[in-house]
Amino acid sequence: MMNTDFTRSLPPNEVIRGYAPGAAETKSLAKRLAELSSETLEIPCIVGGEEIRTGDIHENRAPHDHSNVLCRWHAANPDVVERAIVASREAWLEWSETPVHVRVAIFEKAATLLAGPWRDTINAATMLNQSKTCFQAEIDAACELIDFWRFNNYYVLNQVHSEQPPHSPSGMWNVLDHRPLEGFVYAVTPFNFTSIAANLPGAPVLMGNVSLWKPSNHSILSNYYIMKLYEAAGLPPGVINFIPGDPAAITQQLMTSPEFSGLHYTGSTAVFQHLWKVAAENLPNYRSYPRIVGETGGKDFIFVHESADAEATAVAALRGSFEYQGQKCSAASRMYVPRNRWSEIRDRLIADMQTIRMGDPADFSNFIGAVIHEQSFEKITGAIQHARDTPGASIVQGGESNREQGWFVQPTLIECDDPQFRTMQEELFGPVLSVHVYDENNLDEALRLCDETSPYALTGAVFSQDRVEAERISDRLRHAAGNFYINDKPTGAVVGQQPFGGARASGTDDKAGSVLNLLRWVAPRTVKETFDPPRDYRYPHMG
Ligand code: NAD
Repeated sequence: MMNTDFTRSLPPNEVIRGYAPGAAETKSLAKRLAELSSETLEIPCIVGGEEIRTGDIHENRAPHDHSNVLCRWHAANPDVVERAIVASREAWLEWSETPVHVRVAIFEKAATLLAGPWRDTINAATMLNQSKTCFQAEIDAACELIDFWRFNNYYVLNQVHSEQPPHSPSGMWNVLDHRPLEGFVYAVTPFNFTSIAANLPGAPVLMGNVSLWKPSNHSILSNYYIMKLYEAAGLPPGVINFIPGDPAAITQQLMTSPEFSGLHYTGSTAVFQHLWKVAAENLPNYRSYPRIVGETGGKDFIFVHESADAEATAVAALRGSFEYQGQKCSAASRMYVPRNRWSEIRDRLIADMQTIRMGDPADFSNFIGAVIHEQSFEKITGAIQHARDTPGASIVQGGESNREQGWFVQPTLIECDDPQFRTMQEELFGPVLSVHVYDENNLDEALRLCDETSPYALTGAVFSQDRVEAERISDRLRHAAGNFYINDKPTGAVVGQQPFGGARASGTDDKAGSVLNLLRWVAPRTVKETFDPPRDYRYPHMG
């Protein structure tokens, strides 16, 4: 079916709830949290709208409470994956022809349900499953996801379907038909953002595609509720198939299928590079060249100029590095500070870090929870130990951890004499900030280090009260971050305001939540119609 031209007014960003003590919204969320906490859901695969229980059962426990089994989930086996390919093929026939305004209506309904009756459920599931505080769950699972859905709707109508050839001379009509891809999109999603997990299968579907969604094994509860929300919003069966399970086996099966037409991935860099190789190896078997979109790791920085406001810098470093236990791809994890400002910034940072409350997100007064799983706990605590053992690196604050009840790692500040020290380069994905103190008389060398020390280029920030210097630093670091901040922390990008994504080893920079991303999921067809076609083949020059 040809596209229909509708436009829509720009939606507002969803207003963030504060969850102040005693507020009605706080009581309502706490009640839902207690309910979900006390049950152990059994979660099936969902293929073609059918629930499938394979009997290959795994579980998710709350990262902050090993004793709390949140769900038992059935892993997809090869038969289920094959059924998912068939279901998506069948769903494609109708969905790829479904008018855009109908697709938009379903996502608009999902946003309305999430803003209203589903909000507490999705937030509570995210708090329990991924150990987020109420605020961190609210800005992710509620607000960012509502914004993804509403802004994507705005972009598809106002900036994709309205994008038509600029000229149709008299006697003809030129039209761009924004077709979906032929085949299915494989969505591989990370544990850390419920909104990203929902958007990776969702954005291609909005463009008329069908998605096979392999969620992270560590966020099955919240992701399952998202799948149920899509169903409640009226998404037809088979348009998204929910197939949790063994990542390598599912990938092997899906990415060798001729119908594989796109990969929408967010997660670590190593896995993405592996997936790209699998796509390259199987290229001759695919019906179309697959679209490959991946947002991956980061080693995000704060660069401090000697004119910086020390208080603002310290607060940004604390929030930017330790909120959600440093498990944001955008989290600051290295900082460059001029020697003549270090003691002031360090003392303020230490004083604030000593007041951080860490624990169960059910206690709303906590600032952070636990890290996601044992492997992550081991990696982070191992790196801290390495810093402790290495001359020239010192733990300035924090460094403790506790695994008894949950995977708790204390926010940690490491000072590194060596700017190439492991924790200045490697993504740890935990609450660890490494600082290199530089000679304020050698700013250019410090900027070179900041630009060249890690392969990543996701987010970065400069703190400087000298606006001209801030500009110079921003220019010098132009390719070091896809999201750059002046006098603000490098986390907390908002849909419709700061489109998110990075280049270099951080991804394909297709900016989730913007029209740039949506354009990757269409294969436009140009249609030229001539109203009065020639009836003589000869040209004037032929006499
Ligand atoms: P991860 O790489 O462990 O997992 C991501 C996804 O890949 C999961 O669904 C996982 O099951 C799957 N996977 C793992 N091994 C696989 C394999 N061999 N074959 C196929 N799939 C496989 O990442 P994570 O721990 O879930 O998330 C944290 C990472 O994600 C960090 O590196 C972080 O920087 C990154 N991230 C990036 C962004 C961004 O926008 N750039 C956003 C969020 C997270």
